[in-house]
Amino acid sequence: MCKKNMEQEIKGVRISGASGASRFRFLFLLMILIGLVIIFFKMPRPCQEPLTYRIGKVDERFGMSRQEFADSAKRAASVWAKPFSRELFREDSKGAIEINLIYDYRQESTDRLKSLNYKIDKTRNSYDELKLRFENLKSEFEQKNLVLVSDFNTYNSRMSSLNAESESSQRKGGITEDVYKRLMVEKGELSTLRANLLSRQEELKNLADTINSLVVVINEVATHYNLDLVYYQDVGQKLGSEFCEGKYERQGYTHTITIYQFANGYRLMRVLAHEFGHALGLQHNENPDAIMHRLITSDSLELAPDDISALKTSCGER
Ligand SMILES: [Zn+2]
Repeated sequence: MCKKNMEQEIKGVRISGASGASRFRFLFLLMILIGLVIIFFKMPRPCQEPLTYRIGKVDERFGMSRQEFADSAKRAASVWAKPFSRELFREDSKGAIEINLIYDYRQESTDRLKSLNYKIDKTRNSYDELKLRFENLKSEFEQKNLVLVSDFNTYNSRMSSLNAESESSQRKGGITEDVYKRLMVEKGELSTLRANLLSRQEELKNLADTINSLVVVINEVATHYNLDLVYYQDVGQKLGSEFCEGKYERQGYTHTITIYQFANGYRLMRVLAHEFGHALGLQHNENPDAIMHRLITSDSLELAPDDISALKTSCGER
């Protein structure tokens, strides 16, 4: 029956004077349409059958094994199973959603501050504390840098004088023992001064790295609470308001969840649960306690009523 109809349709096209090329185009478009319908029905839809995911890149600098990361992803995914009492996600080596753990300046900054015993709990209070430390370190840096630049200039001019005097004495045909001794003392002092300058330069570089790390962490908290961002060298621009611990992206049939940073294991699962929510088609909501609130302000893994109602709407069950 269907076949007959199709023949009639094709005949109709030909009678109307269409060329062989347009008949081919029609068949081609029809095939694409059929293909799309098949893909649509074959695509796993959330809630009806589990969405599959696979673990992609896991940067070893997080100090976490692939298995530990996979376990965190599994627990985070199970958060969404509660309202329906069935899993909405399943790990599969060919899974549709790739989950990556990427180490970049975000985690590096957190690690650096942690190694310096900074308390980073990313609360509103920690913003004030960290900002104060930032201002203090910034003025310490500027002060030390000024002195260092001036000491470098002094060193360079003493070095030039030493070289000039040594060359001039040699041109005059020799050097007295007294002058020689004085020049050697000066040379020794300059050598010690140089080592001192280089070590202070290294110390300042470390200080600058700490300040940069502070900027990264402060701006993360600032973004969460809509507070002023801090700027220092080029780091401020690099971050802007785009700081995020994780993100979900979908391009065509490619879904990716990327995690950039987490303070602890609970936080990792919380970020993963949020990104899994996006994979289910959920948008941000206004409830600060919700998994799908745009800011992650707690480590709780409980779905809020807003999360549950959004999930049910997305699943067409309400
Ligand atoms: Zn989000």
